[in-house]
Order: sequence, then C-alpha cells, then structure tokens
Amino acid sequence: MFVGGRPALDLTGTLMYRHRSAPTELLASAADLSEWAQQSGLVHEPVTANRTGLAQTRELREAIYTLVLGRMSHLPDSQADVDLLNATAAAPPLDLALRDGVLQRSGSLRQLHSALARDTLEVLGSPLMTRVRECAGSDCTRLYLDTSRNATRRWCGMRQCGDKAKAAHYRARRKAAHLGHDETR
Ligand SMILES: [Zn+2]
Repeated sequence: MFVGGRPALDLTGTLMYRHRSAPTELLASAADLSEWAQQSGLVHEPVTANRTGLAQTRELREAIYTLVLGRMSHLPDSQADVDLLNATAAAPPLDLALRDGVLQRSGSLRQLHSALARDTLEVLGSPLMTRVRECAGSDCTRLYLDTSRNATRRWCGMRQCGDKAKAAHYRARRKAAHLGHDETR
C-alpha cells in the first residue's frame, strides 16, 4: 500500500483502480483512516477521526490526485484544488518529539491533513514532479515517485504489478506463438 515514495502519493492510492476498473475505497471508515495514517509512518499514535474528518481526507485526496494527474497531463492547475491545498497546508504540521531516543510523530487529523498537503506542495513545486508516474499495471492506477537511476520504473511495485504484468506478457507471447504455429499448418 505504501509504494508511492511520498505520503501524498500513497494517499491517492487509497482509492484503487480509479479509471481502469471499478474504483475500490480503502478508506471506508474513520478507523481505516486512523490505521492508514499509522501504517504510513506519518503518525505513531492513532489519529482521532469522525465521518466529517474522513470526508475531508477524501476531499483532500481527490484534490491531490487531480493536481498531480493534471500536471502529468500538462494541464493547468485547478485553482479550487490549489486553494484547498494551500489552506490545508497553512495549519500546523504534525508534532515531533524524541521519546527514549526515538522520534515520535503525533497530532490531530487537521495536522495530518496539513502534513499531506505540505508533502503535495513539495512535490508539485519541485523537479520531483517530473518523476511522478502512474503504474503500468493493467488495472492499477497507483501513483509513485520513480527514484530509479534511469527513471525507467514502470510499476508501483514488482510484487503487486510488475510480476503480474510480466506473467501476462509471457502468456500473451506463448498464445501468439501457438497461434502462429497453428496458422502454418
Ligand atoms: Zn501497480
């Protein structure tokens, strides 16, 4: 689930298979959101969220997705989405504290949103944006930061999509070879 290389990109991946097949919502409840936030490493303690907070997270997620995908398609930024990102990023970031020598991040949902908005602005406002890709998996729509040396990464992850794509390619080639054989008889 955390293959994007940036929390903001990982957030967009919580709505899976967007335009390629039936969209699947991973943040179906406030509890899902709290768990996602902890698993992402953004916070080390549960974040309190209610339904309104969850709706705000989804709204932020879609603004991030629209902006990033728009940039990838060389479209102008949607001003409403930029305004939402700017306003969200203006809230205080997450609290950091060293406890027993270990860095702990915590905070409210508003602070979590701020962290995600700030992360998005860092990507949009820097050369990192030229490295954002959409997975080439057949139905996967995950976004990720391609940090490979030659910028040639094609899938969000080998295990999730790369192996699947290679297996499909192999099957297609075998089928083509088989058909070719049949035609020559
Ligand atoms: Zn993928």
